[in-house]
Amino acid sequence: MKTLIDNIAQLVAVPPGPVAGRAFKAPLVIENAAIIVEHDKIIGFGPSVDAPAGPFDRTIDAGGGTVVPGLVDCHTHVVFAGSREDEFVRRIEGASYIEILEAGGGIKNSVRSLRDAGLDDLIQQSRPRLDRMLEWGVTTVEAKSGYGLTPEDEIKTLRAIRRLDGETPIELVPTFLGAHTIPPEFDGRPGEYLDAMTSPAVLECIREEGLAEFADVFCERGAFNLEQSRRFLTACRDHGLTPKIHSEQITNTGGTRLAVELGAASADHLEFVDDETIEALRGSGTIPVVLPGCSFFLGSEPAPARKLIEAGLPVALATDVNPGSCTIESLPLIMSMAATMLKMTPLECLVACTANAAAAIRRADRVGAIAEGYQADLLILDIPNVQRWAYQVGVNPARIVMKRGRIVLER
Ligand SMILES: [Zn+2]
Repeated sequence: MKTLIDNIAQLVAVPPGPVAGRAFKAPLVIENAAIIVEHDKIIGFGPSVDAPAGPFDRTIDAGGGTVVPGLVDCHTHVVFAGSREDEFVRRIEGASYIEILEAGGGIKNSVRSLRDAGLDDLIQQSRPRLDRMLEWGVTTVEAKSGYGLTPEDEIKTLRAIRRLDGETPIELVPTFLGAHTIPPEFDGRPGEYLDAMTSPAVLECIREEGLAEFADVFCERGAFNLEQSRRFLTACRDHGLTPKIHSEQITNTGGTRLAVELGAASADHLEFVDDETIEALRGSGTIPVVLPGCSFFLGSEPAPARKLIEAGLPVALATDVNPGSCTIESLPLIMSMAATMLKMTPLECLVACTANAAAAIRRADRVGAIAEGYQADLLILDIPNVQRWAYQVGVNPARIVMKRGRIVLER
């Protein structure tokens, strides 16, 4: 099956990640372009006039639109149960995070809902969110556990992620976030909680069923400190899981430097990252992931993305979609926020949501780029140039979404 996509006003040929420096600011943009897909892969692209005559099994007219790689959302908590709009309202009315938490709300609320939900119910509650993400042009999504916080409920969440991977066109990348927070029944006993979460019964089950690729920890005051984070991630790494860290979100705990030390795939959040930490990230393979939707939702200071980019780092962007601190499912909306709040150009936003996001989930060798041999995850957008995407805030131009060379959505 050979497909020609022709009549493309702008093809943004994002190079394979991680992308930093000049290529980050100015990836190759080809005007009046064509791209050729064979089965599930990209086999050629360039100016339309240079396209071979064929034969092709199928020709898709891009209608003078823009073609980009399918978006990669590299940090989500999209598999959860219940919702917390009551807390959203209470926060607007002035309640603090701590007050809500002490009243049994916050993350504890989501933990209760997830424990109450059966596997099928959890899948049913999460699927519509993934369907909507696909409509926005997202073709690969990292998804974390972390609202179960018992061995059974964490494994239930990872099984839900795997089922959703098989049931939706989106490729899901599973992360074991067993160290999200200390559950109420282990109050004041974080060590014992980590013993339970890193027991051979849990980590062997994850390995045997292939339920996760990454392990993640919330390294923060009130959650897990640096030593506990190191211990959790090291135990997980010994069982084949690649580390990731939620670091420097509320305070500077040194989590990002721990990420570098452990060879983590990514360090995520970074609102309180300092110069020394930025220096540590340079030359490491750890991708800095910035989550402006969270700052928008909470009305807090965003991470210094511009500074990270100027330091030569391959910054990635993600939604962080979750029931408490950011319910935003649209990665293009995050691009608009990154443009206005973080001063990233629309081209930088695109690279951050494709090549660099793919690098943050160790998929940069096959997704997030337009390059020969890469998976044909492509979007045909009804806009004449890519700048229009972030500029038209909240408008969805995705006309065709292609995953592995197959049209999975047409609007
Ligand atoms: Zn998160």
